[in-house]
Amino acid sequence: MKRAEYPPALRSLIAELKRLPGIGSRSAERIALWMVQSPDAHPETLGIAITDLNHSVHPCSICGFFTEEDPCPICSDPARDTQMLCVVEQPTDVLPLERSGAYYGRYHTLGGKISPLDHVGPEALRIPQLLNRLQTHPPSEIILALGADVEGEATSHYLADLLRPFPIAITRLAQGLPAGSGLEYADELTLHRALSGRIRLGSTNLLPSQYTLLAPKETDAHNASEN
Ligand code: ZN
Repeated sequence: MKRAEYPPALRSLIAELKRLPGIGSRSAERIALWMVQSPDAHPETLGIAITDLNHSVHPCSICGFFTEEDPCPICSDPARDTQMLCVVEQPTDVLPLERSGAYYGRYHTLGGKISPLDHVGPEALRIPQLLNRLQTHPPSEIILALGADVEGEATSHYLADLLRPFPIAITRLAQGLPAGSGLEYADELTLHRALSGRIRLGSTNLLPSQYTLLAPKETDAHNASEN
């Protein structure tokens, strides 16, 4: 007797669903069966949406953000401040900054960060495209909005060195305490950076970053000399 199995079309859908991030065998099977059985499932619509995505969404040739038209709506928006360019690691970093409502400039996504352990060097990132942008449409300020991890720091330092010859102010995001959290949960490095980047209340003037409460660490001393 031959053991019963799902029909080939269902098996192949389960196999495809299992390849999605965060979907295991059980979930893949549950989703596939729901698509076959539920009147609420519209597999045709889902199929069309996936096909459309593949045909129409691609990285913007200027900034690297997801777009259907090229250049993307951010790069072609005349209301944006062209004097400010924010450098981020991934296209997914753009929307959190947009949602913050605090930034009205343009973006440049690197497509990753320098990570020798993962064999990712500067040549693997969209750095030539960045240099090209600076030559054709130089902004007055570049904000390095990269991660606060070791690789993000290394990438920030690499870019700061590389961009030094340009007559452009290089800044980075202030780092400090997460909103809604107390001092008791902050680690030493976070507190160190929060103290370094402290601002005067009622004014946007930065205080000198030198202070004597904590001995400055090497990386922060380096940042201070760059900013
Ligand atoms: Zn763009």
